[in-house]
Amino acid sequence: MKVLKFGGTSVGTPVRMKAVAKLICDGNQKIVVLSAMSGTTNTLVEVAGYFQKCNTESANNTINHLRQKYVHHVKELFSNKDYASEATAKLDEIFNFLHSFSNVDYTESVEKAILAQGELMSTNMLVLYLKELGVKAQLIPALDYMKIDENGEPLMLPIRKFWESLLKNDAGQTEIFLTQGFICRSAAGEIDNLQRGGSDYTACLIGGSLHTEEIQIWTDIDGMHNNDPRFVDGTQPVRQLNFEEAAELAYFGAKILHPTCIQPARYSRVPVRLLNTMQPDAPGTIINNEIQKGCIKAVAAKDNITAIKVVSSRMLLATGFLRNIFEVFERFKTSIDMVATSEVGVSLSIDNDSRLAPIVEELKKCGTVVVDRNMCIICVVGDLESQNLGFESKVTNALRHVPIRMISYGGSNHNISFLIDEADKEAALKALSKELFSDNQE
Ligand code: ADP
Ligand code: ASP
Ligand code: MG
Repeated sequence: MKVLKFGGTSVGTPVRMKAVAKLICDGNQKIVVLSAMSGTTNTLVEVAGYFQKCNTESANNTINHLRQKYVHHVKELFSNKDYASEATAKLDEIFNFLHSFSNVDYTESVEKAILAQGELMSTNMLVLYLKELGVKAQLIPALDYMKIDENGEPLMLPIRKFWESLLKNDAGQTEIFLTQGFICRSAAGEIDNLQRGGSDYTACLIGGSLHTEEIQIWTDIDGMHNNDPRFVDGTQPVRQLNFEEAAELAYFGAKILHPTCIQPARYSRVPVRLLNTMQPDAPGTIINNEIQKGCIKAVAAKDNITAIKVVSSRMLLATGFLRNIFEVFERFKTSIDMVATSEVGVSLSIDNDSRLAPIVEELKKCGTVVVDRNMCIICVVGDLESQNLGFESKVTNALRHVPIRMISYGGSNHNISFLIDEADKEAALKALSKELFSDNQE
């Protein structure tokens, strides 16, 4: 059994949806996770924003505009009018539900309910299209099995129990189980979600809890690239990544995978394969437990980073200084990305600066505080354990013309990170590409 996830880009138009249908119908039973058609979740965020501001007119206009798009999609997708009218009825139900929030007080639950509708639209359309093709397909509502606890953590056991009993009762009758990515129920039983981009996470939670043979993430580019294709020409797909390398890359900007998504697959040792819907025969990227000895795999960048330096002579030989500093960030629920220390100070970086002012106020009690904004983390990923000699000098040599604010190495065997000014990002990515990948990739 495999779990296949198709992102918004892969089901963004009826033509793409038809291509997905062709790709998944090979006679093998499988679980297919879908995201919303691309752009839909963003439009729903906009709709929720209008309702929040009590601007019902703009909310309803935006909903109507989206409805028109789906009217066209249905016309293009179906040839059989019975399936077309069934799809229209289902979509009408969803759009009427969206309009119904005009008369309701806005709460966080309203926002979550609105955001969930994109995946309900795409899955209802695809399941009916598969039926039109004569494929044995079933729509399995994610809201029946995908649950999170009070801390937003998904519960693996209910997922496993639900799918095991479903698969047992089905006894191989159904070819395609289609389900929604992203959406789930909260501990209170209300509609919730696994955060933006969360469909990847859904696929990995199902595949991980069922210990499936493989989890496939299908998108519109050929696997994880060794550098950011938006800034560097001639980037190459990386054919294999270790789970840790993939996690570092996903977090530091290789947007093809949701950062937390691969953890359930990693714990269950289920390989994750990234594949391209535009080139289904291309090998893509396989993420598994193997390590390619001594190999630097990729570079990624993360913007909008704030660096904070706290310098104090009191740090010298003192105990508890770092704890006092870290506690400030914990109190203001701000996570720290990079850390570097000296005998007299500590520098660290955060990506969420919404609580920066109170954090700085508190830190001033520990020493002199310097804040640098608009910074960027450049992260080099691969088998970088200390016994592999020379990679540090290779990387720093590539960055010799770039002012570096901070370096972090040793936090894992797979990452060396540099904090630089955002304005130097493109130059840094290009220089690293030239130095590290100019002719050692296939
Ligand atoms: P999907 O809707 O298919 O899940 P996403 O919304 O997750 O797709 O976005 C994936 C997109 O991210 C791809 O279209 C790709 O162009 C882009 N992308 C951005 N940075 C990178 C990177 N470093 N490597 C690969 N893809 C990237
Ligand atoms: N549709 C959701 C989003 O746009 C989830 C996803 O695409 O993975 O964030
Ligand atoms: Mg995505």
